[in-house]
Amino acid sequence: MKTIMKSAKLIILFSILVTFISLAQDNKFGIVIHGGAGRIVKENMTPERESEYTAKLKEVLETGYKILERGGNALDAVESAIRLMEDSPLFNAGKGAVLTEKGAAELDASIMDGKTLSAGAAAGIKHVKNPITLARLVMEKSPHVMMISSGAEEFAKQNGLEMVDNEYFITKERWESYQRAIKREEERKKAEKHGTVGAVALDKEGNIAAGTSTGGMMMKKFGRVGDAPIIGAGTYANNNTCGVSATGSGEYFIRIGVAKDISSLIEYKGMSIKDASEEVIKKVGNLGGSGGVICLDKFGNVAMPFNTEGMYRGFYLSGGQPVVKMYKGN
Ligand code: ASP
Repeated sequence: MKTIMKSAKLIILFSILVTFISLAQDNKFGIVIHGGAGRIVKENMTPERESEYTAKLKEVLETGYKILERGGNALDAVESAIRLMEDSPLFNAGKGAVLTEKGAAELDASIMDGKTLSAGAAAGIKHVKNPITLARLVMEKSPHVMMISSGAEEFAKQNGLEMVDNEYFITKERWESYQRAIKREEERKKAEKHGTVGAVALDKEGNIAAGTSTGGMMMKKFGRVGDAPIIGAGTYANNNTCGVSATGSGEYFIRIGVAKDISSLIEYKGMSIKDASEEVIKKVGNLGGSGGVICLDKFGNVAMPFNTEGMYRGFYLSGGQPVVKMYKGN
């Protein structure tokens, strides 16, 4: 009798465990990324270049997705996705960043945890290989939210982050476009192309994280800081609403407080992620700004509106396939 009772108990325990695991597996998770918005049009793209971007964006999505699939947290997925894009010369973040008026790379990044509303940011970085990791370090290992320039770099060094010469970030292509920009005012405007990177992830526990990393704007004044490292402008995450990462003309994104504005429209007005993000991008346009956002809400809904000709972007949600797009509509 005792053995029967014991095995019945075991069976009940086992089925509770199975139900729990399958419920946990039912939880939606996923990642959304961007690699910058701007004049991204098919006519200017060679097939090789297009497939280079597609392959890299897919690799980034798959890396983030795998972390979430095996139960990893949203912050790890966001940091790993952004590191990969910082290491790629294709984007204006980390290696391949655009240059200041003085010809140096000055990088900004931020990250936010939607569970605790903790956040970290670093700006004016010249020697830390992966600014997004420094942003996370500021969030987790300091009592502050934002650190800048040499102080932030000292903090990075103390914590063993990989440091590099400023030349590491400067690719031949960016140097040439900088040289052209110096020569002609006309080129100067064209050179203001975007290429910031960002990621938003929702993990199986329902936690949302968002992060953004950038070299800023080509020919920016040394010391200029854009929206990317500003919590509420370029990055925001809240488990009760959504996660957002922005790209575009930072000055406008700061003035509107784009990322927090989207979250607030959901929080206070009960708007959908699609309506909220489209409304805020419209505001940016009305003010004269250009760019876009990637957003993921707590239900796993994605929105990626932009008012430029294109935006490198993609998402990979549980139960689906990685989707990569760069032009308007596709
Ligand atoms: N938002 C970035 C900045 O203003 C630039 C970009 O996204 O292209 O620094």
